[in-house]
Amino acid sequence: MADIIKLLPDSIANQIAAGEVVQRPASAVKELMENAIDAGATSIRLIVKEAGKSLIQVIDNGIGMSETDARMSLERHATSKIRKAEDLFSLRTMGFRGEALASIAAVSQLEMKTRQADRELGTWLTVEASEVKRQEPAATEAGTSISVKNLFFNIPARRNFLKSNPVELRHIIEEFQRLALAYTDIAFSLIHGDELLYDLPAGKLSHRIVHIFGKPYQEQLAPCQEETDYVKVSGYIGKPEFARKTRGEQFLFVNQRFIRSNYLQHAVINAFEGLIPENTFPFYVLFIEINPKHIDVNVHPTKTEIKFDDERAVYAVVRSAVRQALGTHSLSPGIDFSEDVNIIARLNSTDADDAKRVYFEERFQTTFQRSNLQHWEKLFEQHPSGTETPIEQQLSPAELAFLDQEKPMEETVKRQEELMQLHQQYILRPVPTGLMVIHQQAAHQRILYEKFLRHISFNTGESQQSLFPQAIEMNGADFALVLEMESEITALGFRFEIFGKNTLLINGIPAGIGAGREKQVFEELIEQFKSNQAILALPVKENLARALAKRAAIKSGDKLSLEEMRHLVANLFGCQAPGHSPDGDTTYFIFDLGKIGMYFKHN
Ligand code: ADP
Ligand code: MG
Repeated sequence: MADIIKLLPDSIANQIAAGEVVQRPASAVKELMENAIDAGATSIRLIVKEAGKSLIQVIDNGIGMSETDARMSLERHATSKIRKAEDLFSLRTMGFRGEALASIAAVSQLEMKTRQADRELGTWLTVEASEVKRQEPAATEAGTSISVKNLFFNIPARRNFLKSNPVELRHIIEEFQRLALAYTDIAFSLIHGDELLYDLPAGKLSHRIVHIFGKPYQEQLAPCQEETDYVKVSGYIGKPEFARKTRGEQFLFVNQRFIRSNYLQHAVINAFEGLIPENTFPFYVLFIEINPKHIDVNVHPTKTEIKFDDERAVYAVVRSAVRQALGTHSLSPGIDFSEDVNIIARLNSTDADDAKRVYFEERFQTTFQRSNLQHWEKLFEQHPSGTETPIEQQLSPAELAFLDQEKPMEETVKRQEELMQLHQQYILRPVPTGLMVIHQQAAHQRILYEKFLRHISFNTGESQQSLFPQAIEMNGADFALVLEMESEITALGFRFEIFGKNTLLINGIPAGIGAGREKQVFEELIEQFKSNQAILALPVKENLARALAKRAAIKSGDKLSLEEMRHLVANLFGCQAPGHSPDGDTTYFIFDLGKIGMYFKHN
C-alpha cells in the first residue's frame, strides 16, 4: 500500500491553529491591539462594524513594519519578540507565539497598511484566507493599520456559531477595557458603527477607571499598594458598599497582562469578608508585578491563565494589600472599620440584605452620635426587608402627585416635612445625624427598578390601553429579541401583537409612563436594554427593569413639588437597597453634623 501521511498545506494548518487563537471577533481585537501595544504605540484606535463581524480595524502609531516584515508577520511562528526558548522566561511583550496574525489571516480578508517612521513610503498588503492577493508600496501614516474583514467568511460553521451582535460587542468591549486599564499611558478609542463608545486620553489609572466606568467611580475607589521582594501589588479596589450582584468588574493583571485566576480572585473576596453580602462582587483593578522568571504565561494560547512558582505568596500579598486598603480608606467619615468589632459581629450575624443595611446605617454614624441610631433605624423599620414594600411607587411627577389623593402619607415622611429641592437636582432633608442629600434621578431609578423587577417577577405590571395603537417596524434581530422576552415585557405592562414582518403593534404600555408616546417608550426600552447588554451580563429581568427605570425616571433638572419629594423619599427608603441606583451610583449621603461643625470651629 502506498504511503498515506502528508503534511497539511500551511493554509489549512493555519486554519486549524486559528480555531485556538481566534474564537470570536473579540479574540482578533485582543491580538491586534496587543500587537499595537508591543509596537510601542502611544495611540490606538479600534473601529468595529457589526460587532466585529464585518470589520475590525486597529490603527496604531507604533514602529510599523518593513515590506519584508509585513509579509513575514503573516507566517506562522513568525515573531520579532522571542528568538530562543529561554526568552520565554524574560517576556515583557504581550505577544510571543507568532501565530496571531497568521491565524487571523487564515480566516478573514485582511488588509494591512504599515510604514516605519524613517521611510517615505509604506506598504499595503491584501490577504484572503492566508493567500497574499497583492502587495504594493503606499503612502500611509507612520505606524500600522490592520483591517480584518468578514471574519470566518471561509468557515461558515464558525461564522454561524457567533452570538448576537450585542453579545459579541460585549466581548469586544471587555477586551478593550482590559487593555485600556493595563496601559493607561496609551490613548485608546473605540468606535462601533458610527458611535464613539470610548475616547480615552493617556493619563493616570484612576482617571482611566473613571473614564471607562463613569463618574460615580470617583468616590468609590480606594488605592491599594503592597510590596515584597517577590511581588508587588497595586491598583484600586471599590469600596464595599459598591459591590454588585453581577460579576464583570473584576480586573487582575500580571505584568500588565489580564488574567483569570479563581485562586487570586478568592484572595480579594476573602479580604472583603464580612464587609460585603454573600454573592456580591467588589470592583477591583489590581496589578501584580513579578519577575517574569517566576511565572509561566505559556499555559494557554489566549494567555489568560498563568502559573506562579509560589502561588501562595502571591495570594498572601494580594489579600493583605486589599485588607489594608479597606482599613485605611473605606470608612470615612469617622469609623475605623478594622477596629470596629461590633459592626463586624453584626454583619456576620444577619442575612445578606440586612448586612448591607446595617452597614449603611453604621457608616453614617460617628461615635458620639451613636445614640441617635434609634431614630435613624426607624427609617428602615417601616419596611422590614423581605416583605413587599407597601408604598405604591409612581413613575412621573404627575403620577406621583395623582397618587397623593389615594394613599395616606407615610409616618416617616410626615415627621420629616422639611424637604427642599436644590438646583432641581437634589433633595435636601434634615435627619438626626445631619443633612441628607438625595440625588433625585438616581433615587427614582432605584425606586422604579425595584418596582419593575417585582412586576416582571410577579406579573403585576398594570397596563394602560393605547387610544391609538402604534406600529413599530424593527430590524430582524430586535424583533427576535422582543419575541424572546415577550413574557417579561408583558409582565411590565406592555401589550403588543405581531403586525406583519418584523413589525409590532403596541396596544398598551405600563401605567403611568408617557401615554401617547408608546412607540418611543417601547423603542427606548429596547435600545437601553441592548446597550445594557453590551456592557454587562445581566439576567433578562434585571436588565429590562433597569432599562425601563433608566428611561422612565425623573431627571436632574425636573422640578418637584413638596408632595412629589415626600413620595420619592418615602419610596426610596422602602427599597431593599436604597443606597445606590441600579447602575451603582450613590443615591444619597449624609452631611454629618460633626463634619458640619468642623466648618465652624471659631476661636
Ligand atoms: P507575536 O505578536 O506573537 O509576535 P503576531 O502574529 O501577533 O505574533 O505578530 C507577528 C509579528 O508581526 C510580530 O512579532 C511583530 O513583529 C509584527 N507585528 C504585528 N503587528 C504589528 C504592529 N501593529 N506593528 C508593528 N509590528 C507588528
Ligand atoms: Mg501578537
